Amino acid sequence: MQIRTKLTLTFISIVAVTIIVSSIFIYLFSANYRSDEFYQRLSSKANSMAKILINADEIDLNLLRLIENTGPANLPDEQITIFNQNNEIIFESKENKKISIDAKTLDLLKEKSEIKHKIGEFEIHGVKLKGHNGNIKVFAAAIDKFGYSKLENLKYLLFINLSLIILVIALVAWLFAGNALSPISKIIEQVENISENNLNARLKPSKNKDELHKLSVTFNKMLERIELAFILQKNFVANASHELRTPLTAIRGQMEVILLKDREKSEYITTIESVMEDIKNLSIITNRLLSLAQATADRKDLDFQKLRIDDLLWQTQTDITKFNPDFNVKIEFKKLPETEDDFTIEGNEQLLKTAINNIIENGCKFSKFKTVEVELDFDIEKIYIDFTDQGIGISEKDLEHIFEPFYRTKNAIRFPGYGLGLSLTQKIINLHQGKILVKSELKKFTTFQITLPRIQG
Ligand code: ADP
Repeated sequence: MQIRTKLTLTFISIVAVTIIVSSIFIYLFSANYRSDEFYQRLSSKANSMAKILINADEIDLNLLRLIENTGPANLPDEQITIFNQNNEIIFESKENKKISIDAKTLDLLKEKSEIKHKIGEFEIHGVKLKGHNGNIKVFAAAIDKFGYSKLENLKYLLFINLSLIILVIALVAWLFAGNALSPISKIIEQVENISENNLNARLKPSKNKDELHKLSVTFNKMLERIELAFILQKNFVANASHELRTPLTAIRGQMEVILLKDREKSEYITTIESVMEDIKNLSIITNRLLSLAQATADRKDLDFQKLRIDDLLWQTQTDITKFNPDFNVKIEFKKLPETEDDFTIEGNEQLLKTAINNIIENGCKFSKFKTVEVELDFDIEKIYIDFTDQGIGISEKDLEHIFEPFYRTKNAIRFPGYGLGLSLTQKIINLHQGKILVKSELKKFTTFQITLPRIQG
């Protein structure tokens, strides 16, 4: 169901329920008032007739009947019936009576001095009074034709009132809801026109600083992020193809040249060695691209287990110095662990080793003394690992780009590398719900800080 229809129906329901409840209240109040008023009139009739009968010693009953029947304030189908104390009728105002007071009604007056009763359409008021010859019972009965007709009229009026108000409310609510929702329709229209071909398009936020303005602004921010991710993705593919094509072109070139004519054995060996070098590069790039894809995978698809980060550092230090004997990795504890849990995290061992390896290798690679100082610290929630080198450093402008795939700073071009290590490292740390920060000064120092959440013991 559309929001507009839902809003209109809600509005109608609220108004309809309110009017129905108030109409029922008005109707019941009026019905009660009619009944009270009618019984009061019947009561005064019965009382006045009884008084005449009691006060006059001798009264002609025919005259009394005449007075009663021709009285101007007679009620419709009014009938007065008077009983003596032996429950015998001593007076009846109508000869052709339409209602008889039955024994059950008479009985009601046994205990009480006054009763209200209903037989069919007739409403009856009965009263017990002291006469000269014992108690007499007077019953005044009549049909409240006018009262009921007024009530019927009221019912009709209330119903028309309800129908008219619902009609007006339906119209107003429909227009109001349409008006209130029109900015959303406009947003939908604009969003429908945005595709991968015009990701630079933005929504026009409404002038009022309301929730819809906020929605457009938030949506625009999201578009900005998507556009950036899209550009990075495009660049990534372009850079990856370029990086893979360079060694392939070199291999092809060398093969073509060597095949031009017969050569000395030593020439073949030199070319094969050079081709081997290019193939090694190709293999490094493809491995890194694969790791990058793996690090982008979902955390739940990877094997996460409890790991001690200090153990990982020692192992990485051993691996690095084994393959690069001139690299120097110094590990220090800012605070000594008190329990095993102080440096325990949950993570994927292989990925974390790759991340730590990248940062340490970079530090050694980009510094004259090929040394990286690693400092380990922790607090209640986190573990902090600082990697500092006194190397070429990174300019402020470059700091915001170094985590992009294939990005290499100008001063790093003379060193070997592909620009994939840091983007892979950042993805791995994010996957472990950690953070990676970098501080640096050109030609002075670079510090990478990794923060990882600790397992609470
Ligand atoms: P690679 O090391 O293969 O060039 P990375 O992704 O690991 O690629 O690093 C990206 C770039 O960040 C490097 O090319 C270099 O410009 C810069 N960088 C990374 N680590 C350091 C460091 N310790 N000192 C100076 N520059 C660094």
